[in-house]
Amino acid sequence: MLAGYAVHLEQSRGRRFPEPPHPYRNDFQRDRDRIIHARAFRRLEAKTQVFTRRYSDHFRNRLTHTIEVAQITRTLAAALHLNVDLAEALALVHDLGHPPFGHAGEKALDAVMQSHGSFFDHNLHALRIVEDFEQRYAAFPGLNLTFEVREGIIKHSHDYDTSEHPELAEYLLNQRPPLEAQLIDLTDEIGYNTADLDDGYEAHLLTLDQIRAGLPIFDRFFREAERTYPQVAEKLKFNEALKGVFNRLASDLIENMQSKLKDSGIKTLADVRVHTARIAGFSPEVETERKQIKDFLYENLYYSPSLADEKDDAEPIVNGLFAFWMENPSALPHHYQEKAKEESLPRVICDYIAGMTDHFITEQHEKHCGGTR
Ligand code: MG
Repeated sequence: MLAGYAVHLEQSRGRRFPEPPHPYRNDFQRDRDRIIHARAFRRLEAKTQVFTRRYSDHFRNRLTHTIEVAQITRTLAAALHLNVDLAEALALVHDLGHPPFGHAGEKALDAVMQSHGSFFDHNLHALRIVEDFEQRYAAFPGLNLTFEVREGIIKHSHDYDTSEHPELAEYLLNQRPPLEAQLIDLTDEIGYNTADLDDGYEAHLLTLDQIRAGLPIFDRFFREAERTYPQVAEKLKFNEALKGVFNRLASDLIENMQSKLKDSGIKTLADVRVHTARIAGFSPEVETERKQIKDFLYENLYYSPSLADEKDDAEPIVNGLFAFWMENPSALPHHYQEKAKEESLPRVICDYIAGMTDHFITEQHEKHCGGTR
């Protein structure tokens, strides 16, 4: 069932520390399971995606978002005859490196690291988690994931330059990632674009009229739902319209990738790697609609004054704790004090903060900084 351009298990460059094969799980399935059993994976449950718990218990958090992306990815990878096990592992790991407080937390952490001559990047942080911070196995540090999963962690959404990141040279930075990794960037977007419309509407931060006026693609499917189900509640028509949007994005991605693969004559993984551009993408028409949704969410939801409180909190909390541990490194947990002997103190503090959940960082801030922002 696997296409020639998929990643075939026997092509894998393997693990850093070789391990005997498992009797009934292949290497990518084992990687998927190791990710699910990781501590950093469980912490996703208490990390903000868009909405904090203040709003409601039934909105997405980073864990449920991750599960949704994994579900979308499995379907699309199968339809494209890609390696579903690898694609699923990549979907499950794709947000592992996100710090507390969503993008506001990431921005704050990056800014404070910039002031120390460095930076914070969630993909590179995810690599550090699976390579080093997860200590589960006696035989090796980290999760000892296959090369393809580690490569996908850093390359799924971003191209890094070898001259800027010599430490990543082993990841073939001058080559395209496999299609399984390319796919994650788009399935992630299908997932959050539709989910954020849903949660934004449920939270009454977006109105139906506003969404219909701002997004012609949604309006088209809503009209169709009104014709087919004139009697049902507005929310059910909303759901039908959202399902229409979702299916349009997903189907277009599959069809557009299929036709691009055909037109470009790509037959093997090696062809994918040396192709001039990424193959994963929407058709021009649907790409315009995708961008409209994204822009709409930025304008009307992500920068909404109702969500500003949490965003405004992120920076002073991150900065306050960072400054506290810079001045009082002996107040860091013992394990991090040990780490500071090998790495710079700002990097160690950054790693510690990035791993925290929203409520743990708030608690730490109250403890060490008296909660003053
Ligand atoms: Mg994501």
